[in-house]
Amino acid sequence: MREVKEEDLRDALEDLIWQFAYHGEKNGQPVLHTGGLSALEGAFRALGWDDPHVIEDVDGSCCDVAGCFEGIACGGSYWRETGYWSLCSKHAEMAREDKPQPQMKERALERESHRNKETGFLSYPPDLTSTEPQI
Ligand SMILES: [Zn+2]
Repeated sequence: MREVKEEDLRDALEDLIWQFAYHGEKNGQPVLHTGGLSALEGAFRALGWDDPHVIEDVDGSCCDVAGCFEGIACGGSYWRETGYWSLCSKHAEMAREDKPQPQMKERALERESHRNKETGFLSYPPDLTSTEPQI
């Protein structure tokens, strides 16, 4: 039998958890939780994670709408005139129903302020405080 690396198993479990675990909020922090599903409980236990497991609210981990910690269901499809937003299924549904765009998170507004309106790409000025050589 081919030897399986522990790191690969951990990565696979984390990917499964991100896709299938419930996203929620506890004490104002985004969390992933099992919802009492035994397969997820086993995966959390194998990784040594608490249930709920606190995650960092960074680009790509949670919905861009202020106060929402749900997982991302779609990116760039709605409220396009104001930016390229990552939205949970609830907020994507709101957009599909033509409801007004809610307040977005500061991190998302900051990111979108760097988007080039013509190319759609993000561009940041060179980091002048960095000691790394600029290419
Ligand atoms: Zn949301």
